[in-house]
Amino acid sequence: MTLKKIALRILLVGLAAVALAAALFFPSWKQASYNGGQQYAEPFRIAGNLYFVGANDVAAFLITGPDGHILIDGGYPGTARMIMASIAELGFDIRDVKVLLNSHAHFDHAGGLKELQDASGAALWISEPEADIIAEGGSDDPFLGPLGIILPILEYPAPRVDHRFKDGAKIRVGGTEITGYITAGHSPGCTSWSLALREGDRELLAVSVCSLGVPPTLSFGDYPEIRAAFERSFRTLRDLPADIWVTAHGRDFGRWRKFSEGRKAGDPVAPFIDPEGYRRYIDDAEATYRKTIADN
Ligand SMILES: [Zn+2]
Repeated sequence: MTLKKIALRILLVGLAAVALAAALFFPSWKQASYNGGQQYAEPFRIAGNLYFVGANDVAAFLITGPDGHILIDGGYPGTARMIMASIAELGFDIRDVKVLLNSHAHFDHAGGLKELQDASGAALWISEPEADIIAEGGSDDPFLGPLGIILPILEYPAPRVDHRFKDGAKIRVGGTEITGYITAGHSPGCTSWSLALREGDRELLAVSVCSLGVPPTLSFGDYPEIRAAFERSFRTLRDLPADIWVTAHGRDFGRWRKFSEGRKAGDPVAPFIDPEGYRRYIDDAEATYRKTIADN
């Protein structure tokens, strides 16, 4: 046998081993990504009629009202059940959720939307730039870059998109109103949500900030418009007044720290009133973004 043939055989055996390993591990890999390692987190009222109903890492927020509720984000596909259990634990009914919203079309925030929509019958509102991505269960996401090769684990059950909205859209359920600002960059239609809360005799403005990280898979050359999108998003967010701010990942807005501080101090709302933290979060995200574009 020539050296070339031996090398070819080794290569073929190697490829077969990789294929076998992939076939064996794919189901558990898929299962792991389905759950995303999420664990139970105690649901609680942040302020006014805004509640945290997410898992330990990925967040979800319930905004309640006498005519029906609004729910932001679905977590991973496997998080939907945890969100529903948390809504029930707070004494609310998933079937009273009339509007379903999303921060952005990624697997860890849009994965559970279909199950939540099926259980609630709620209308799903998605920003125009990512309505098609969500409607196809994430398979059309141009921001995945080379990760598109392992796409099946990054896809999620496709919900029905009932309404597509433009930047600045006001969405209402009875007397509750929430405004969607498209703050693109992390994804093409990343949406930050703004609403006014009534806490005692105070009005507090709350902002749910869409993720501001540069997707690690993204090649800047392929998406020149991303720079303009990020620049505009930083401006939009700086213009939004925020007493209370939250994000799609609990750690980013200090969910656990603020929750436990409030409990200890006997004033669960106070630690969440954090306009300086909001500014700092945007400043830090912008600094990281500037460093990333300088490297690209
Ligand atoms: Zn994301």
